[in-house]
Amino acid sequence: MISKVYRIMSEFKAPADLSGGLFFRNGKRVNIDGEKTFPVVEQRIGAEVRRCANASPALVDEVVKEARTAQKEWGNKTPLERGKILRKAAEIIRANHEDLARWEVRTNGKPLVEARIDIDYSADTLEYYGGIAAAVLKGDYLEIPGGGTSRFAYTRREPLGVIGCIGAWNYPLLTCVWKVGPALAAGNAVVYKPSPFAPASPVLLGEILTAAGLADGLYSVVQGEAETGEALCTNAGVNKLSFTGSVNTGLAVQKAAAENTLKPCTLELGGKSEIIIFDDADLNNAVNCAMMANFFNQGQVCTNATRVFVQRGILEKFTQELLKACDEKLKVGDPLNEETRVGANINEFHMNKILGFIESAKQEGGQVLRGGVQVHPEGVENGYYIDPAIVTGLGDDAKVVREEIFGACLVILPFDTEEEAVTRGNNTTFGLAAGVVTSDLARAHRIAAQLEAGSVFINTYNDCEVNVDFGGFKNSGHGRENCIDALKAHTQTKAIYVNLDASATSY
Ligand code: NAD
Repeated sequence: MISKVYRIMSEFKAPADLSGGLFFRNGKRVNIDGEKTFPVVEQRIGAEVRRCANASPALVDEVVKEARTAQKEWGNKTPLERGKILRKAAEIIRANHEDLARWEVRTNGKPLVEARIDIDYSADTLEYYGGIAAAVLKGDYLEIPGGGTSRFAYTRREPLGVIGCIGAWNYPLLTCVWKVGPALAAGNAVVYKPSPFAPASPVLLGEILTAAGLADGLYSVVQGEAETGEALCTNAGVNKLSFTGSVNTGLAVQKAAAENTLKPCTLELGGKSEIIIFDDADLNNAVNCAMMANFFNQGQVCTNATRVFVQRGILEKFTQELLKACDEKLKVGDPLNEETRVGANINEFHMNKILGFIESAKQEGGQVLRGGVQVHPEGVENGYYIDPAIVTGLGDDAKVVREEIFGACLVILPFDTEEEAVTRGNNTTFGLAAGVVTSDLARAHRIAAQLEAGSVFINTYNDCEVNVDFGGFKNSGHGRENCIDALKAHTQTKAIYVNLDASATSY
């Protein structure tokens, strides 16, 4: 029999609209009716484009059962066979690159130039896990004392079963792929609940995986708000939770994971990162790093370093150059335009929350050096656009310095000594990322070792590669994505003791 994976033509075609449905079940996109619905909003135009039902706990349970049934055969396939399907899916993503990037803009409001990068990374992720699965997912032969050749142990690396995944809205496709790639490669089935603010891309991924040959039921998408998420977390048929979102929801997810069964959790949570710029830094690079740490995706990036510590010797020059670069480069506009670098925020509520942070900065005595106001770009006047803000004149106790903003608001914080910068940088309950910009490499590595964060950037910021560990220290979460450990975290090892010599046992 020819495996379906060898029969693939590019069957996937990105849809023109979402009328085919926002749920993905048994290998197909479907519409589901429900009494409780939520609005699906297109951020760039600031309009509701349709409504979507919330999956009830009963529906979640049905989908989990379908996943459990489908997983049995998938889990028995070899990692090489599973990997082929993921690599085929990566190929389909590349073949539909531009259409998918445009969908990502419609789903999230980010500029097209950034969405294209997300699509590349999504393909890379599936290729990576599809490629390493056969090399990583293997057991060991273990010698035991006195065993000789007749008594020994070996391990098998087995899938966990069904992985319940819950995503945030800032990287709708990439967040999904980061979870789905290792989960499927390891032989599990996935039930994914996207954020209701960006529900489309994970459904398109379902169609891509089906086109790549994935059997029905192995990947499903249930839509909904908190109640649907809770139902997934407490469902006894789910064996592990993989969550991306805020710290508060992460706490709820971890509690729910222990409500009736004991589920391991990978938690990718919020951040309040710092970048420390020394007065020996290359000025141009320092400005670029501060911008990379703050303005991608309208500032809605979990690793963003809104706390920009600048050594006093370089403060004035850095501030001038930063303002100049922002004015030159941060073009706010319709995210579908090629030249736009700042698109729309995720929704009106979130936009107002960011504006509220900027207002709090003014009330606490800060000065807003640029931006920080809603703007109405031509042609997309009703979208949720903010001109990125730069704030100064605040101490470490200010609200914008303590709390995660998740928007484009960079705060400049002067410092004098290395020790002071590290202490103030670490003075947060978050620990997702941090950066240091200096020409003194000994100092850079010394500081990198002291910063309490899962990712540290030296003379760069917000780099992210699929083969490099990603995850948080402290309240920014636990578990890692994007690396070999993430694949292993979707498996469990079974130890098997063997005796080939019956005469050797005694009691
Ligand atoms: P959120 O916590 O509000 O929601 C995340 C997801 O959880 C959504 O799908 C939501 O519907 C669901 N949810 C809400 N209540 C739930 C509950 N009680 N049980 C189960 N699920 C529930 O976060 P958000 O606003 O979507 O995303 C922004 C946050 O995510 C920020 O804090 C950001 O830093 C963080 N984030 C972290 C990473 C990372 O990798 N560390 C990446 C992206 C975003």
